[in-house]
Amino acid sequence: MNIFHITYEPSYKILDLHFWGCNLKCRGCYKNYDLFDLGLSGHSVEGLLSLPPAEPPDRFLTMDEVMSKINGLEPKYTIFMGQEAALDPEMPALARAMHETAQSCNILLTNGLATTDLSHIDEVVFSFKAFNDEVHKQYTGRQNAQILHNFRELVQAGKKVQAEIAFIPRLVEENEIEALARYIGAFAPDLPFRVTSYFAVPGAPWQAANQMQVERAVSLAKLHLRNVISITSDMKESSWKPERIF
Ligand code: SF4
Repeated sequence: MNIFHITYEPSYKILDLHFWGCNLKCRGCYKNYDLFDLGLSGHSVEGLLSLPPAEPPDRFLTMDEVMSKINGLEPKYTIFMGQEAALDPEMPALARAMHETAQSCNILLTNGLATTDLSHIDEVVFSFKAFNDEVHKQYTGRQNAQILHNFRELVQAGKKVQAEIAFIPRLVEENEIEALARYIGAFAPDLPFRVTSYFAVPGAPWQAANQMQVERAVSLAKLHLRNVISITSDMKESSWKPERIF
């Protein structure tokens, strides 16, 4: 499989399965600098700026190895997360195994470009990068028409879906975020929508977003959607203590 890293948060019973490989090339991707769960690292997200480029992982687990390493854990939620878990052909079988052995609620975090068998995924979180096609191309190297199409199809098929987008100063600001909220609001006004804050990485020209910028975008998104929240990197949850399983 493409899984190179696993963490477990025992108080919330959340299992994070980290997959390697992505079909976008986001200029602000922190995975180029820190491969592992940010909750484990000693540095703050601001500390990413001083990190050298990371070497890609060189050890991947088979499905049997994943199941053996998590044996004894009781995850309430299993998060299939990035880079891009939807690219792994064995992901659907693992999601099924998690349902059958742990009865966990399976959540896929995705950039939305690739489609996969979601039979054993209970909820999908689309992490949008931009709404405007040119901005999307500038940031990720790819157009976003397919992503918007995949998102709409999934919502209209009745799958439980959430959406999120990061405020990136001077690139993806409140008007861009409002445009995405307006697009979603036209067919799913109750869909949960989260505005997050970009944090700066070496080699990318954008500064970190602050809470005021994010809140401005949230208030515009609320004109179109009923369920909008913000998450910024300065909101630290002290009880969040993931443990490294692999
Ligand atoms: S979609 Fe996520 S993992 Fe892929 S390049 Fe962008 S930020 Fe990185």
